Amino acid sequence: MRDGGSGGAQDDPAAPLDESDQTRSGPAAPEEDDSQDIDGEAEGSAAAATQDGGGSTAPPVEAPRPSEFQVFYPDVHIDIDYESEEARASVSGSLAPHHRQVYIVEASAGQEFRAELEAPSGVWLDVRKGDQVLLSDIERPRLVEGPLPADGAWRVSVVSTSSETAHYTLAVEMMPPRPVVYLTFDDGPHPTHTPEVLDLLGRYDARATFFVLGRLAERYPELVQRIDDEGHTLANHTWNHENLDGMSRSAFDDTISRTQEVLGDRAAPCLRPPYGALDRNTRGWAAGHGLDVIMWDVSGADWLDITATEIAGRVLNRVADGSIVLLHDGGGNRSRTVRALEMILEGLSERRMRSEPVCLPTSEVP
Ligand SMILES: [Zn+2]
Repeated sequence: MRDGGSGGAQDDPAAPLDESDQTRSGPAAPEEDDSQDIDGEAEGSAAAATQDGGGSTAPPVEAPRPSEFQVFYPDVHIDIDYESEEARASVSGSLAPHHRQVYIVEASAGQEFRAELEAPSGVWLDVRKGDQVLLSDIERPRLVEGPLPADGAWRVSVVSTSSETAHYTLAVEMMPPRPVVYLTFDDGPHPTHTPEVLDLLGRYDARATFFVLGRLAERYPELVQRIDDEGHTLANHTWNHENLDGMSRSAFDDTISRTQEVLGDRAAPCLRPPYGALDRNTRGWAAGHGLDVIMWDVSGADWLDITATEIAGRVLNRVADGSIVLLHDGGGNRSRTVRALEMILEGLSERRMRSEPVCLPTSEVP
């Protein structure tokens, strides 16, 4: 449509998208390479390491707040109260050459954690549960992040391949709940762009709300079905993008009802007014149809003549926990929105933000 003006500025590399790249500090080159031996002697070494370090270096406990922290031998147990929003424990110790110290952490499934080791080179982290290796010392990490694999005990080992006694500090942290963002897409479904949006959302395990036009939902039932099948929600954006400001009651009832009928029981009980235009009747009339009016607080402004990078920047510079983000999968050529969406999803993922539908069908509300 109006793609001429900003041509040269497309995908401006200077745009301020990338703020958080601090989690990847590649492990230093190993000094020795005999970690296979270490793995084999796990249990014996654990006991030995504890005795070596034992009496004098029984891990001093910095009482984490507000959780409990307990130490047992020969393995060291780290108990963290998962009810709290955030829990952190750290231990320090000494490790004899070619030994390992095993810490046991009692875990809830799915809780995200972070284990970080400060130690000289040649000392590494190994995280596993039962036979499941979450991250092994083969990869020689100093920092392990991820969701806990399952309920029960998991093991964080500090492994030394060094030929000298090593002093280390291990910090284990339970991450606070991930912030949520509500992505919304208006004006679809669109035969080209809606599938592109759905593909991207699926790749990033993100869920969104699609405020569809009844007219297009009727024309593309397979897209409506796919949106529903993939865990997103569908809600009302009027039949044909009418302006609700100043609309008569009968016209309002008509455009809303026809759209609700096409969506059927897949419809979430929400209405997004086209152009964000309301008058003093709109909310009350919507409530008469069982619908909440849902606006937004962050807009990609993807209807403007701006680049994909600018669209993404607008969103990523403004989103916070609980933000409702306005984007469009229909109403014109949305290829820039699709490119922006990939950057947005990447940026949200770097910030540990998850995307959920802002509206759920009544049948799915607990
Ligand atoms: Zn719209």
